[in-house]
Amino acid sequence: MIPTATGLAFFLRKQVRKNLALLAGYCTFLALMVLGYAHLFQFLMWHLERRTYSLIAGIYWTITVMTTLGFGDITFRTDAGFVFATVVTISGVVFLLMFLPFVLVSLFVAPWIEQSIRYRPNRELPAGTRGHVLVFGPDVVTRAFMRKMEGRQVPFVVVAPDKEEAFRLELEGMRVLCGTPTDGVFLENARAGAARGIVTNLNDPETVNLCLTARKLGDAPIAVIADESAHADLLRAAGATHVIPLPQILGRHLATRATTFGAAAHVLDAFGNLLIAEMPVYGTPFVGQTLGKIPLGGRTGLSAIGLLERGAFSSPGPDSPLSVHTIVLLAGTREGMSSLEALLRLEAGEDRVIILGHGRIGCAAATVLGKMNVPFTLIDRMENPHCSAHESIRGDATHLDLLRKSGIDAARGLIITTNDDNANIFLALASRRANPHVRMVARANREENVDELYAAGADFVVSSSSVGANILANVLEKKDTILLTEGVNVFRRPLPPRFSGWTLAESGVDAMSGCAVVAILREDNPEPVVGPSRETVLDTRMDLVLIGSPEQEKRFGEVFA
Ligand code: AMP
Ligand code: ZN
Repeated sequence: MIPTATGLAFFLRKQVRKNLALLAGYCTFLALMVLGYAHLFQFLMWHLERRTYSLIAGIYWTITVMTTLGFGDITFRTDAGFVFATVVTISGVVFLLMFLPFVLVSLFVAPWIEQSIRYRPNRELPAGTRGHVLVFGPDVVTRAFMRKMEGRQVPFVVVAPDKEEAFRLELEGMRVLCGTPTDGVFLENARAGAARGIVTNLNDPETVNLCLTARKLGDAPIAVIADESAHADLLRAAGATHVIPLPQILGRHLATRATTFGAAAHVLDAFGNLLIAEMPVYGTPFVGQTLGKIPLGGRTGLSAIGLLERGAFSSPGPDSPLSVHTIVLLAGTREGMSSLEALLRLEAGEDRVIILGHGRIGCAAATVLGKMNVPFTLIDRMENPHCSAHESIRGDATHLDLLRKSGIDAARGLIITTNDDNANIFLALASRRANPHVRMVARANREENVDELYAAGADFVVSSSSVGANILANVLEKKDTILLTEGVNVFRRPLPPRFSGWTLAESGVDAMSGCAVVAILREDNPEPVVGPSRETVLDTRMDLVLIGSPEQEKRFGEVFA
């Protein structure tokens, strides 16, 4: 049997435990030897030379002699004493200087090297394997995607380019294949032709090659995270079915959320003519009011579908209070968004947004702000070699002087988007101190830092791995889902046929799944019904748009499958 990395990890854990016990035994033997010699030293000193030493002095003498340090501050003066000292020196050389390193190498280092040499990663899937998802380019995004797939019990196999990476991934408990992504024979062995989908996050040239090679084997959908949106056409021409320019998408998410201007500017996504948007209450005349008091539905036709307060979601009610930190989630048409904008009469020019980090994502955010005529200032410690459109202030943003000089205290919006989460958390805290009212949007490179960024004072956190994983899952599962924030999705599903002819209230779709119906879309009418009344009569040409957690979304699928 070929040993797998998991087998090796198991072997090592078992073996290390056994070997630690052996090492502990050997160390006890050494300690007893030192103690025995120390007592003998006291005995001989007294009987041969009539000198008294404490046990501590005996231990000290034994150790300096055994390690051949021999300071010479305590020495025997008789022949018998010299013989004893010689015996102690020789046993020190043998048991301490020769045996101990040997024991360490043979118990710990050698088995590890031996086993890792013997480790042979899998290079092919069993014949007949089908319906699996092949993942190329393991990183934070694809890992988050794999966790999602695991939750949905979709089998996936991750491809590692070399043995070390394969070994590491297998230790994490993943099913791994080792091989070159662009090698036709390897892709054949990975059963790419029969896969349910291929997901890749390699660099764009490598992806082009992979797509061309995979297309020779079959027509499995290929979802690609692209480095640059400008490469989308090439990637599609090579055979990619879905191209996801993640830096641009994240830049747009950050930019739209950092401005205090215009509801239409905050549109997150759309199902046909139904737009899903966010309205930050900060900067509007609605601060301090309740949701029921503000002129939404009547004047704009928009419907509040949820409230967010520093990442925490709550269902809206007429008594829901609106504070400077509240974000109202809205559903409605473009006309509705425009009338809200007219109602608020905010000017883009009043905004000033500071962007910390001018990498791919910061640059994309700046481009979006530029299109909205929102003035911005960029700070990065390096020049962006791919951008000639923007000027940035050069320096480390964590130097508070620079932050202050950039005008943080007067800024209306702030985008924190460096690739270092520790820096992002630090910057969130420092900026919140400097400007309690700034609308702060931060990027979390790793999902586990989302809570820390909120705790540091961010109004909104965009997790690049969650957004990427969500888009990939949507694409592969052919589902219409919009991730609003961690734990809140808006999704579109066809009406379960059994409810045709029932009213919305009678169907109980919301009560049974825990989701709320926020709109109804009809095949025969492009205009969405926003905030449908409970008396709306349902028919099979309708799609429901619902809001709920990923678990509620899953329950909806299970209950109405
Ligand atoms: P990207 O991941 O492509 O959006 O790039 C992130 C950008 O953040 C890079 O251009 C980095 O130079 C920048 N960056 C990282 N740490 C800091 C920092 N402490 N101050 C300013 N810029 C930073
Ligand atoms: Zn730029």
